[in-house]
Amino acid sequence: MVLRRGLHGRGFRYALHRRDLPGKPDLVFPRYGAVIFVNGCFWHGHVGCPHFTLPKVNREFWIGKIGRTRERDAEAVAAVTRMGWRVLTVWECTMRGKTALVPALLLDLVAAWLRDGGGNSVISGAVA
Ligand SMILES: [Zn+2]
Repeated sequence: MVLRRGLHGRGFRYALHRRDLPGKPDLVFPRYGAVIFVNGCFWHGHVGCPHFTLPKVNREFWIGKIGRTRERDAEAVAAVTRMGWRVLTVWECTMRGKTALVPALLLDLVAAWLRDGGGNSVISGAVA
């Protein structure tokens, strides 16, 4: 929501969850040839992130489940890229808890990526 409201406020126009694109990107910016996936750090297995710690119980189950999600994510990024889109992955830790970035900084980073036309990129939260 921080991202949606903030980008809209800065004049970026997007579509939400386009079903015709692999992985249903959270935000799609046709004008910039760009899509954004917002990934929850636990479910999508953000390695090295304080928001991603495997539960002690049923460890094998979680490793398998999150591992499959990570594979699907990688496949979706590759597929969308092959279709000619640029892909930005924004981890949830940029917006949550102690790792959250100042919202204006996050918006600056995303806006700069959209405008500069660069290749695929990732934005993570501040890790101590
Ligand atoms: Zn994270």
